[in-house]
Parts: sequence; C-alpha cells; structure tokens
Amino acid sequence: MSEKLERLKTLLGEVADLGRASAVLGWDQQVNMPPGGGEARGQQLATLGKIAQEKFTSDEVGQLIEDLKAEFAGADPESDEAAMIRIAARNYDKAKRVPPEFVAEQAVVSSKAFEAWVEAKGKSDFSIFRPHLEKNLELVKRYISFFPPADHPYDVLLDDYEPGMKTAEVKAIFDVLRPQQVALIKAIAGKKQVKDDFLYKKYNEKKLIDFGVNVITKFGYDWKRGRQDKAPHPFQTTFGWGDVRITTRFEEDNPLATLFSTLHESGHAMYEQGQNPAYERTPLFGGASLAIHESQSRMWENLVGRSLPFWEHFFPALKKTFPSQLDGVGVKAFYKAINKVEPSFIRVNADEATYNLHIMLRLELEIAMVEGALDIKDLPAIWNEKMREYLGITPPNDAKGVLQDVHWSYGSIGYFSTYALGNLVSAQLWERIRADIKDLDDQIRKGDFSALLGWLREKVHKHGQKYEPQVLVQKVTGSKITPEPYIRYLTQKYSEIYGL
Ligand code: MG
Repeated sequence: MSEKLERLKTLLGEVADLGRASAVLGWDQQVNMPPGGGEARGQQLATLGKIAQEKFTSDEVGQLIEDLKAEFAGADPESDEAAMIRIAARNYDKAKRVPPEFVAEQAVVSSKAFEAWVEAKGKSDFSIFRPHLEKNLELVKRYISFFPPADHPYDVLLDDYEPGMKTAEVKAIFDVLRPQQVALIKAIAGKKQVKDDFLYKKYNEKKLIDFGVNVITKFGYDWKRGRQDKAPHPFQTTFGWGDVRITTRFEEDNPLATLFSTLHESGHAMYEQGQNPAYERTPLFGGASLAIHESQSRMWENLVGRSLPFWEHFFPALKKTFPSQLDGVGVKAFYKAINKVEPSFIRVNADEATYNLHIMLRLELEIAMVEGALDIKDLPAIWNEKMREYLGITPPNDAKGVLQDVHWSYGSIGYFSTYALGNLVSAQLWERIRADIKDLDDQIRKGDFSALLGWLREKVHKHGQKYEPQVLVQKVTGSKITPEPYIRYLTQKYSEIYGL
C-alpha cells in the first residue's frame, strides 16, 4: 500500500482518537460529573478540540491529501482508498476555510446565547434571547461567506449535516409532504379519539428500563460493545467500534418515553456497531449523514417499536410486568394508544403524523433568516401563525413556541431538516426491506429481528460514510430521498387506527 496513504491514516487516526477522547469526556459530563466539574471540563474539551483541529489542518495533512488525490486519480471511486481520500479532502477543505479566530468567537458568542436562551425560556420572554439570536445569525452569515457561492446560501449550512444535499431538494420534498400531512391530521381530528390514559399511570422506573434492555437485546444491540446509562437527555455516543454507548431517561409524567427513547438510541447505536471494523479510526467510519443516522433510530423506534406485530410479541410480557396499569387493556388498544395523533406545541413530544410539520416550520424560518427576509423581532408572531396554519393550534407563550428548541442558541442552523428527512428515509428503506424479507411481520411477531438487522448491516451500516446520503439511498432503494413511502406508511397506519 501507498506509504503516503499509510502516513495519512496514521495522522487521521490520531485526530479520531482526540475526537473520541472528547466524546468520553462529554459522556461523563452528562452521565456522572458533579456540577462543580463544569468549568474544568469545558477547558479540557476546548483544549482537546484545539489540538485536534491543529493536527487535522496541518500543512502535512494538506500536502498528503493533494499527493494522494493525484496518486489515486485513476482508482475506482468506490474503493475504500479513493473514498477515504475524497472525504478527508472535503473535511480538510471545510476546516481550512473557517479561521480559528472565528471558531473561538463563535464559541464565546454561542455560550452567552445559550445562557440567555435558558433565561428567556424560563421567563418565556423572547426579547431576552433576541439580541443573541441576531448575533448568532450574523456569525452564521459570516460562516457562509467563507465558502464559494452556492445555489442558495443555506446550502452551505445544510452540507455540514447532509453532504451533497441542496436546499432546493429539501424544499421540493417538503412541498409534496406538507399538504398531505396537513390533510391527514384534519381527517384524523374529525374521527373518534383513542383512549390512552393508561399510558400515564405510575410505572416503576427500574422495571421499564429492564424491559427496554430486554427488547434491544432481542434487536441485536451488542452489550459486549455497549452499555446504557441514565442522562437528562438521551443520546448515543461512540468511543470506538468496540464501545458504542446509549443513555435513557425516566420522566414521571411520560413513563413509556423511557422505553421508546431506548429503542431510538439503540437504532443509532446498532448503526455504529454495524460499521466495517476496517474503517476504524478513518474518515470512513460513522454515519453517512444525520438523516441516515436518524433513519435508523426512527426505524427501530417507530416502524418496528410502534407496530402491531412488535406488540403482539412484547405486549404479554409488558402486561405481566405492569398488571395493574394495563388491567383490561388489550394489545390493539395499547397499539392505538401509543400511536395517538394529537397536534401539540412541543416538537420532541410530537407523534409520527404531526412531527414533520414542526420541522417544516423551522426550515422555512431558517431559510428566511439566512436570506434576510425576516426581521428577528417578528419571529415569535410568524412562528405562531405557522403553527395555526399547519397544526391548527396557537402556542400559549414563547416557551412553548419559538423558544422551545436549544439549536438556535448554539447558532446551529441547518440541522432541523435532518430529523424529517430521517423519517422519510426510514419509510423508504422499509418498503425495500418488506420487498426483500417477505415474512418480516411474522418474524417480528416472533421477536426475531436477525434478518432485519442483517439487511441493514449489509445495505446501510457497513458502508459507513463512503456514500453521500442521496447516493446511498439511491443505491439501496432505486431512487433519491422521496416523501411518497412515508406518506403511504402514515396513510395506511392511521387509516386503520382511526378508520379514515
Ligand atoms: Mg436521534
């Protein structure tokens, strides 16, 4: 093998080690660290981040990438070597365009903005957050200016999460999706509502967590290469091919969320555990994009975990664990309850039928902000207007409206659409899976997920970051990301549940 490639792999392996060491610190911060540790931890993370950045953007790395591009110019673009050089070059180019002083300034501005957002949300007063959001937006626009002009300035932001994807593509997808989801919700609202009070009784935390552990063990989550802890916000994190962790939380007033968040995070984790071990510590390791990652978590949480066959298998055990809470409840009633559709203010609590509308609203506002077509002071009013238009409800205050999400306080614009795209990709993959595994429902009804996980490993997981998201989806399903499979999925599911 090329000596230069070996050298690049060594250097990038060290950069990856630094990133994963930061991940360990971040995991500890959320799982174990006492409140007094915050300041020192912040410094440690900043130091590690700086060293990693310096190492990655060194002249030696730049020269190696240039030489290797020439050396592998004739290689099969789908070979591991060519793909690795391509991704390293893309990341290097991005990293070099953004000056270190800008990164430092953004860290300071966003940490102040985060504090202001916490206060503003607590007091439900947008005016506290407004100047910070304006400052964040200014920095976002400056960030965009570091890159060559794109079809749309928002493309630059989107590309950081969905490599190769264009704003126009996402808009076109959402334009098809929006009216159909709005119509579906209206149709459901006119029907008899489902009963779900038994989901909100008192459930024992330990028993629920144990139940989730049992389920994801059957899914195929590998405990020799993983563990689950508790954290205020559930997440998945990777320290290496052999150490892929998840967290969950318990909410007194929404106990079943513990179970579904475990299923969700296990989907992310199995994607990481399914990586090709040969990609370890290289730029090929990891998810193809945030949307592809989210497609995996949503699939295990929703397409599997909120399906009738799944509960035909697991409901008897759940009922045995919680006999008084589920007294008199049959599997069908339970299935309907966990799939209840109800327009609500808070995105993270939204059901499958309404969720994407929360995202579309945010995408439209973000694009308008980046275009300068929207005055920040009008944001709360426009937010509420769109909530009425899409979901038929008006937030009672800004905490339940424009201030609910943390993302804009970090200056992170361009992220939201990946959640909705993840939903779409999950359904698109699902149609292909059903065509390939004819008796999938029967397998799930027996608690056998091996064929499903094997399919995902082969078609999606093992490729790591080799393909851009649209290329991967096209390869696996025969078309780029499209809303139709998700619309078919929702329509069929809710027609049955609500008798539409
Ligand atoms: Mg997720």
